[in-house]
Amino acid sequence: MHALNGKVAIISGASSGIGRAAALLFARMGAAVVLGARREQQLEQLAAEIRLEGGKAEWIAGDVRDEAYAERLVEAAVNGFGGLDIAFNNAGTLGPLSPSLALSAAQWRDVLETNLSGCFYGAKYQIPAMLQRGAGSVIFTSTFVGHTAAFPGTAAYAASKSGLIGLTQALAVEFGGQGIRVNALLPGGTDTAMGRQMSDTPEALRQVANLHALKRLAMPEEIAASALYLASDASSFVTGTAMLVDGGVSINRS
Ligand code: NAD
Repeated sequence: MHALNGKVAIISGASSGIGRAAALLFARMGAAVVLGARREQQLEQLAAEIRLEGGKAEWIAGDVRDEAYAERLVEAAVNGFGGLDIAFNNAGTLGPLSPSLALSAAQWRDVLETNLSGCFYGAKYQIPAMLQRGAGSVIFTSTFVGHTAAFPGTAAYAASKSGLIGLTQALAVEFGGQGIRVNALLPGGTDTAMGRQMSDTPEALRQVANLHALKRLAMPEEIAASALYLASDASSFVTGTAMLVDGGVSINRS
């Protein structure tokens, strides 16, 4: 018996990194998965890989800044697999790494739209579908950046991602009585395309790794394992949290 047998999950940002690892893990754990991101080829390949392993997967390419895309993903879950139990709203962007006050209004809005509004649009359609089933787990990928540690040049990223913690809490109290759990997952530095964007030289990578008590970055599979915990009944009494899975970057002072 797998942890997600019979469940249906939407995973955004599934074309790479943490989302891709979570898609593979959730499918192996028995969930039918609806994969979202912008790059068609990566999604198509991932769906094929999951089906080859005997899993169930559909994909729809689109942009999380588009509210209609959020609705389409939920329709795919309901029409293709009969409903929705889990939504891992994980797509995100770092935005330009430049002095914060040099951000244009358009750049600021773009990061906020992707990281914060995109998650709101997702929840707006996901939660009604979950209410039809009488239960559900919504997960937002936030970060420790802007919550337990601050870095220069990350104003839009930090603001958008800590905004997700407020969104998590508001939705958790609003829908908890109806069986919906809502949690934010806060990874530490993770070895993905985005992780490499933040640390683009071996020295920078070593420096960022050293900020963590574990003296390394996470592999995307390690963050996916924590998303699985929040998605599954193992976390049945966990809601409204900002769950750090950060290798000790928040407590490290050495
Ligand atoms: P990644 O670059 O491999 O993945 C990001 C995913 O989001 C990709 O699939 C990308 O296509 C998708 N995406 C970005 N903008 C989108 C848009 N407008 N519409 C649809 N999809 C879009 O990086 P990752 O590290 O796997 O990032 C996943 C999440 O983890 C992000 O929300 C990120 O902020 C968060 N996070 C990453 C780290 C890290 O160190 N890598 C640390 C903490 C939090």
